[in-house]
Amino acid sequence: MQTVPTAPAPTATATAAQDGPAVAPRILTGDRPTGPLHLGHYFGTLRNRVRLQADGHELLLVIADYQVITDRDVADRPAEHAENLVLDYLAAGVDPERAVIFTHSAVPALNQLMLPFLSLVTVAELGRNPTVKDEIAHSRQSAVSGLMFTYPVHQAADILFCKPDLVPVGQDQLPHLETTRTIARRFNDRYGRGTTVFPEPKALLSDAPLVLGTDGTKMSKSRGNAIPLGADEDRTAKLIRAAVTDTDRHITYDPDARPGVAALLTLTALCQGRRPEQIAEEIGSAGAARLKQVTTEAVNEHLRPLRARRAELAADREQLRRILRTGNERANAIADTTLAEVRSVMGGI
Ligand code: ATP
Ligand code: MG
Repeated sequence: MQTVPTAPAPTATATAAQDGPAVAPRILTGDRPTGPLHLGHYFGTLRNRVRLQADGHELLLVIADYQVITDRDVADRPAEHAENLVLDYLAAGVDPERAVIFTHSAVPALNQLMLPFLSLVTVAELGRNPTVKDEIAHSRQSAVSGLMFTYPVHQAADILFCKPDLVPVGQDQLPHLETTRTIARRFNDRYGRGTTVFPEPKALLSDAPLVLGTDGTKMSKSRGNAIPLGADEDRTAKLIRAAVTDTDRHITYDPDARPGVAALLTLTALCQGRRPEQIAEEIGSAGAARLKQVTTEAVNEHLRPLRARRAELAADREQLRRILRTGNERANAIADTTLAEVRSVMGGI
């Protein structure tokens, strides 16, 4: 599926809990520390996070480090990747004074929450998750581990511990969020005695829920098809030059028949706030080489301020570590409170 950019991203007001108290909704979302963030993250969720925070919402960002070992044997330099995620967040405009940025592994209560949550879903339900099936198909492992199979449940703990209202995500996360909502509902039914222990969080899709990479499939850190936010202009040009297109010189926007061309048109359109059809028309018969030039210029121009900020922030690694330490403390405090409540309603176990 190709996405078409439209004007401003959705705001929380349309999707926030309608009968909740009149406080700013709490937002929880996150990323795996598997590499630098890319344009898919930026247009798919990061921009929304920044806008929501600017609107006054409370923002929690989980760096899902245990999720790295779902589809690979070991986590490669997880601490370094985690710091770089913080760097990308700040460069994109997240305010670290108001956000809680934490790593899953530093909050032990999350893992304890996972056990009762696992009891609330069936093996058949876990086996039907389309995102897990897709990730297994792209996995570097020959066999599927129990963690790969059950990570949507540990993700439910990563989300529900702070009882968020909204979870800004890309399209691939929708099945996981459905699992989270199911777990919340079943927990309340089984243990709540008429009260809502876990409100069901809502997904917030941006106007670009599935940004395609340079091979015409979902842009992903681990698929070699991404344009990282922090890449320099020459590297960006090189990555885009290597993008898969086709032999038809006349450029048209046809996501089904021409996914590679459509991916470049969409990236250009997202960067320029225009429609991909319009860009295709302008390029006309100038061919894929011209399209790649146009895309490169659009991406580099759009990211220039972000990249300049990123370079400044990168000079102070200690600041990035400090932000994580503070975030971990605050996340632990919230998670311990939730775990105590869960143990209490479960009769003390
Ligand atoms: P990996 O290849 O390691 O799984 P990834 O690129 O898929 O990395 P994640 O850390 O798994 O990134 O995803 C973090 C968040 O970014 C999720 O909410 C996900 O939906 C969103 N996201 C990732 N890739 C895209 C994309 N191409 N388009 C839109 N949203 C995306
Ligand atoms: Mg992913």
